[in-house]
Amino acid sequence: MTIETVGIIGAGTMGNGIAQACATSGINVVMVDISEAAVQKGLATVAGSLDRLIKKEKITQADKEAALARIQTSTDYAALKSAQLVIEAATENEALKVKILQQVDDLVGPEVIIASNTSSISITKLAAATKRADKFIGMHFFNPVPMMALVEIIRGLQTSDATHDTVKALAERLGKSPITVKNAPGFVVNRILIPMINEAFFVLAEGLATPEDIDAGMKLGCNHPIGPLALADMVGLDVCLAVMNVYLEELGDSKYRPCPLLKEYVNAGRLGRKTGQGVYTY
Ligand code: NAD
Repeated sequence: MTIETVGIIGAGTMGNGIAQACATSGINVVMVDISEAAVQKGLATVAGSLDRLIKKEKITQADKEAALARIQTSTDYAALKSAQLVIEAATENEALKVKILQQVDDLVGPEVIIASNTSSISITKLAAATKRADKFIGMHFFNPVPMMALVEIIRGLQTSDATHDTVKALAERLGKSPITVKNAPGFVVNRILIPMINEAFFVLAEGLATPEDIDAGMKLGCNHPIGPLALADMVGLDVCLAVMNVYLEELGDSKYRPCPLLKEYVNAGRLGRKTGQGVYTY
């Protein structure tokens, strides 16, 4: 199946990024959100991002206009009927996503593939909210979508090979480098990344090195662009802690025990950059 039009649910950080990636790759987009203000904000973000690409001489004014002309917006889910693939990128809330997916499942034709950009909810579970588990899949984009090459393509228990192949080809048309992952908490990248950050807190708590030296060690020794503790401050210490607790609960292995120092910082309200203090002070 060729995908000519992609429906996107949610015009927020990820939704508008996915819309931009599609539109600049020659794919039509229908982006829906709950209010006109939300879709307009999403559209303005895309326009601003395209302006920055013009300044960097990556695209021309004509490219920008052509891309924007490919994005249709609506507050009515009926607009999604023209899409061959619908990507759900609404707020991370399981009950909300189940409701949205049931609505879309009832609305669009039986051949349409439905994908979710969820970071933490089981793809197999979300698929079960629809009557098309074989045509349901995870497309986990990374922020900022137009800049980040990776898309994790998550196969639920019942995702068909045809669905996987169609979505993988679409990701490649967007200029991305997809990887295929079986459904499991954290998929691949966050499953490795968040326990690494947690381990950095254990190393800090044991007094093995200063935060600066821990981060310098991982930057210089592993070629990481940013150290784990500085990254934790960017992600949010509360988010790191919540993810570790999900792994501990869902995978049932004590190796996912959150570091007590990470908990202590969160309890103190030191959540990272967003509160002005985490491991470091901003
Ligand atoms: P966001 O808050 O920026 O945007 C969410 C949008 O969904 C909002 O505009 C909101 O109005 C809209 N929305 C809420 N209910 C809706 C409904 N019923 N119908 C249509 N739209 C609705 O959130 P985000 O950061 O873009 O995250 C979206 C999804 O992407 C989440 O599942 C998140 O886990 C996932 N994700 C986020 C990141 C990230 O770094 N932000 C990275 C990968 C995946």
